[in-house]
Amino acid sequence: MYYIGIDVGGTNLVAGLVNEKGHILDKVNHPVDKTMTAVEFCEELARMSRKLCEMGAMDYSQIQAVGVGLPGLVDNKNGLFVQNPNMPFSDRNVPLREIFQKHWDIPVFLSNDANCAAVGEYWAGAAKGCDPAVVVTLGTGIGGGLVANGKLFTGYANSGMEVGHMVIKPNGILCGCGNRGCWETYGSATALIRLTQAEMEYTKDSVMWELCEGDRFKVQGRTAFQGARLGDPAAKRVLNTYLHGLSIGIINLINILQPEIICLGGGISNAEDDLLLDPLRQLVDEGTFDKSNPTRLEKASLGNDAGVVGAALLCHMM
Ligand SMILES: [Zn+2]
Repeated sequence: MYYIGIDVGGTNLVAGLVNEKGHILDKVNHPVDKTMTAVEFCEELARMSRKLCEMGAMDYSQIQAVGVGLPGLVDNKNGLFVQNPNMPFSDRNVPLREIFQKHWDIPVFLSNDANCAAVGEYWAGAAKGCDPAVVVTLGTGIGGGLVANGKLFTGYANSGMEVGHMVIKPNGILCGCGNRGCWETYGSATALIRLTQAEMEYTKDSVMWELCEGDRFKVQGRTAFQGARLGDPAAKRVLNTYLHGLSIGIINLINILQPEIICLGGGISNAEDDLLLDPLRQLVDEGTFDKSNPTRLEKASLGNDAGVVGAALLCHMM
């Protein structure tokens, strides 16, 4: 049997033909243009899925299910793309499954992108064989997904595991969600960039100014890691502060869930171990309640493919 998984981003749609091992056999892309309506979007997903089938010379009956990973709130029970902050259309409760099935009558499963990444890593990546498994994606915000007892945990109405919005500091930094002190305002790539810029304003002789050609708007998530590699004290201070904030959320997840593994994904996770994972493991070890049964902390291994693989295999996880 084969599956089709679609990873929906704000600028690009990626669909993949996936086998039961979680290997991607073929892929197609389609850009999201600014005039795309909600209906056109759903129809494009169906068109891409059929195209994959044709490219692989498959009979439609060889595909068990289609899964879609969406950047926003999702209602899988009713097949709705509830709300999104990043798509060109702002319609609420888009009947994605219904529109898709008008073009291809096949089981369609919906979830959010962070949950799909968790399923992908659990099925074919760094979390394979681990249960419970948590995957945390460090990007613009912080996304999270949990697999427990072989199933995706999403709460009673699909909004579970919004780990980025766990509050780690009372009266802390204002978050996009309206609360203060959310984990993602301390542990996301956006947070790291903000910390880096603030430290640079304070330390005019930091090598990080050279790394971004004197332009603070060119600061990236990797700037502080590059600076620390060059021995820059300001960059090391930035990473200390950042890793401390990042560790608090991880410690909370471990103390509440005791997962067998937590995988870190997203661009930040590409940093070298001695600057990211090693110091983070030390902070987490110190702060975890049950020190005799540690949770493994690892990098996610599928990169951008995790979303496609996880979406494809959603049918086994819900
Ligand atoms: Zn928040």
